[in-house]
Amino acid sequence: MSIAGGVHAAIERACSINCTAMQIFVKNNMQWFARPLTPQEIRSFIDHAQRWQLASVFAHVNYLINLAATNPQFHANSIRALAEELMRADQLELPFVVMHPGAHMGTGEEAGLRKIAASIDEVFRCVPKVKTRIALETTAGQGSCLGHTFEQLAFIIANVREPERLCVCLDTAHVFAAGYDISSHAGVKKTFREFDRVLGRERLAAIHINDSKTGRGSRVDRHAHIGEGEIGLEAFRHIMNAPRFRKIPKVLETPKGKELTEDVANMRALRRLIALNPRKRTREDSRCIVSNERAGRAGHRRK
Ligand code: FE
Ligand code: FE
Ligand code: ZN
Repeated sequence: MSIAGGVHAAIERACSINCTAMQIFVKNNMQWFARPLTPQEIRSFIDHAQRWQLASVFAHVNYLINLAATNPQFHANSIRALAEELMRADQLELPFVVMHPGAHMGTGEEAGLRKIAASIDEVFRCVPKVKTRIALETTAGQGSCLGHTFEQLAFIIANVREPERLCVCLDTAHVFAAGYDISSHAGVKKTFREFDRVLGRERLAAIHINDSKTGRGSRVDRHAHIGEGEIGLEAFRHIMNAPRFRKIPKVLETPKGKELTEDVANMRALRRLIALNPRKRTREDSRCIVSNERAGRAGHRRK
């Protein structure tokens, strides 16, 4: 959701179309650095009258950051920018910031992954008190981008000094473009079993719920509106209904204009997939809803 007019304005936009989760940038996403947030900006976000309507709010870091950058200036900028964005997100009491792990620029997979892990260590060392975690995002594997297999994310997590400060964000368009088959019910279930085995179910912090313009295994990252891409509706039906995803925030990253009509249509398409058969609402489901409310109240300070 756009933060034009200030971070608090994003809350109003999201609530105006009945979102229950929201992803924002904590500053202009095409610039390296920005002036710090003022105390008033922070208060107008945290204490916003509509803030409680959003069960989950988190951030995505800017697109310039590459922790595996080979250019020393780019790499230094990436470390500093990530540390600053983590601090901003922490001031806004956001639980995590989503980040693409990085692109190795020709140095190779393992060298790239090691550089990313070392860079994350450096960033966390700069901001020891920040509670906001980094959610590593699964990527499409375009160019030399890393993070297109669950194993690559697991390697990073296994090689940092503070793995408890990392979690994972799964992007449906990216995993599909990376080659995971989520076009059938069996395929989706298999993919998430794979996720659980390699990364652990509890690492999943958020889902980017996007359809893909490009085919399975294309390694090309192009998002499509729900139901208008190559993935088909089965993956979305599963994600919208399986009890394990009930507490996982899901956000759209699909093309949209200022009026947000595309967001409204995509949310409608997703919510339409939710099984309304009351017999399918098991006791486990109602328990999830209750604990979800508790988690919402306790907010991000809850460890
Ligand atoms: Fe992303
Ligand atoms: Fe994404
Ligand atoms: Zn993408």
